[in-house]
Amino acid sequence: MTITTTRTQAPVVVDDDKCIADKGCTVCVDVCPLDVLAIDLVKNKAFMKFDECWYCMPCEKDCPTGAVHVNIPYLVR
Ligand code: SF4
Ligand code: SF4
Repeated sequence: MTITTTRTQAPVVVDDDKCIADKGCTVCVDVCPLDVLAIDLVKNKAFMKFDECWYCMPCEKDCPTGAVHVNIPYLVR
């Protein structure tokens, strides 16, 4: 899988201000069947590590603070 180079242009974007990974949350990382999300150990926030996505949505739906946004491409809507 390709490592995500520009996090703001990845299919899944995490709002650092809302993410509570620094308080121990790993929900989005745990629910992703592709294992493409990870916790940035420097910032202690979740991010899309690998630029690949099934657009299955549990990361966005299960995030307790609404920090995850999945940008669904027009063609798979
Ligand atoms: S589920 Fe939400 S709050 Fe928890 S680590 Fe992921 S983005 Fe952060
Ligand atoms: S939409 Fe699915 S595949 Fe994509 S990051 Fe979220 S849980 Fe993982």
